[in-house]
Amino acid sequence: MVLRGRKPRASARASRGPADPIRAQAPTLQSTSPLVKVLLRLRGARAGEIVVVPVGGLGRIGMNWTLYGHDGRWILVDAGIAFPEDRSGAVDALIPDPEALRRAVGRLDALVVTHAHEDHVGAIQYVFPRLLSCPIWATPFATAAISRRLEEAGTLAEADLRTFPVGGAFRVGPFAIRTIRLTHSVPEAVALAIATPAGTILHTGDFKLDPTPLIGAPTDLATIHALGNAGLLAMVCDSTNATRDLPVTSEAQVRDSLRKIFASRAGTVAVCCFGTNVVRAMSAVDAAGLSGRQIAFAGRSLRAHTAAADELGLVDTQDVLAEPAHLQGLDRREIALVCTGTQGEENAALAKLARGTDRRLPPLGLGDTLVMSSSVIPGNEEEVARVLKPLRARGVEVLTQTDAPDGLVVHVSGHAGRAELATMHRHARPRFVIPVHGTEAHLQAHAALARDCGAEDVLVGVTGEVLAVSASGIKPLGRIEVPILGVQRDAGVLAARGSRAPKPNAPKPGASKPGVPKPGASKPNASRLGTPKTGNLRSGRTRQRGIALQEARHQPN
Ligand SMILES: [Zn+2]
Ligand SMILES: [Zn+2]
Repeated sequence: MVLRGRKPRASARASRGPADPIRAQAPTLQSTSPLVKVLLRLRGARAGEIVVVPVGGLGRIGMNWTLYGHDGRWILVDAGIAFPEDRSGAVDALIPDPEALRRAVGRLDALVVTHAHEDHVGAIQYVFPRLLSCPIWATPFATAAISRRLEEAGTLAEADLRTFPVGGAFRVGPFAIRTIRLTHSVPEAVALAIATPAGTILHTGDFKLDPTPLIGAPTDLATIHALGNAGLLAMVCDSTNATRDLPVTSEAQVRDSLRKIFASRAGTVAVCCFGTNVVRAMSAVDAAGLSGRQIAFAGRSLRAHTAAADELGLVDTQDVLAEPAHLQGLDRREIALVCTGTQGEENAALAKLARGTDRRLPPLGLGDTLVMSSSVIPGNEEEVARVLKPLRARGVEVLTQTDAPDGLVVHVSGHAGRAELATMHRHARPRFVIPVHGTEAHLQAHAALARDCGAEDVLVGVTGEVLAVSASGIKPLGRIEVPILGVQRDAGVLAARGSRAPKPNAPKPGASKPGVPKPGASKPNASRLGTPKTGNLRSGRTRQRGIALQEARHQPN
């Protein structure tokens, strides 16, 4: 194991603090700054190296976009959103500026999607195909989720969607891509083995090693081991739980606990989970069947994702009532509900249940049980507590991950803890490791773990850093400046600087109100906003609009 002084380098970066480094610079693209030289270099990435650019997903949870370049060709892996610190509503989500990406790489050969979580696909509807145009490759389940969003955006007909099977292979330019089955908290998550003449990089995507995932088979470690045998140049790997010594957990544990809860509670049981967590919803359906309860789903995202999984034959929802209103008239002990709203979102089903004003939903009160089958994103504790307060006041038993009675597991993480990460490293045996998908603390913890697992070199990058990976190591080439744009659900893309989203009632220059361009307004000052404005982007504002986020806050669950 050779550290080659990487650790101090990474530590030095850590000392810059958690702030997004993008904030630190706002160069103009007309200048002759080192940035421009990097941009020119990017277009000519050498044949003997693979260039990796983590455009997002470093130093924060969310906005996972990673560029891979080889021999002048480029693919993007995932295009997700992040959530602004200011959650007052002026900006619903953040995305990297697609125009800056286009300037950096010229043309993209493909977007390849690892799975259907918001932090991996949430930006597609705002960006593709009009601001960035290329084929979008995804699994059948992810394709269904992307199609629905593009349809709502009115751009589905223009999009070039291509589907790959879990465990399949396809080629994009010089990239031979193999998709590897993983377990996670959404169906059909895959890792990507991206092979080029310069070597193969394993991009893990989000994963855990669930031995009994209930939908699909366990993570395909045999294929990962075989890739290790053949020799992996590098691994770009999920760091979400790199600081946590977690036991290996399984969806089967949650299913078994739900069975116990559904069988033992005398009143209505409601289970609240993410809309993408199809397996969790189906575990509730299983528990309802065994306890003689009728069950329904409340929440648009949940209903859409489970319907897509049913259409693809991943699950069978025939025992789920068509509407929650169909539970009316049944005894409380005979009914159950799965709902969305785990983060306390005001418009989600859980908040409606709590308010008790939606007559289509069963009333919850004394003797009824609510299972919060999710974790709370740091920062959302108050919202969740606010939603739960009236339910608790009415005597509803609320079971959460932290206060469920002994032996009951109401939630398990979808990400590998340290032991599972080590297992992944020991099967893949990459020469070099680039930790992604985490805060600085997660990335640093993962880097140390990777070194312990035998990686020759580990590099904790920063957002926009251009990393050339070759047989001789990982070489930072510089950084590209990718400003962050705010996304407002009613107005599409608007300009934002860093993660400092515009506050409500603080109109930006040239806009009549946040996110809504004023007709005839002059171009906002690019240097002030840090966002080069183009015709494309402006047209994007007006044409790709009116998109409602289905799941207001995705969490790496
Ligand atoms: Zn995920
Ligand atoms: Zn993720």
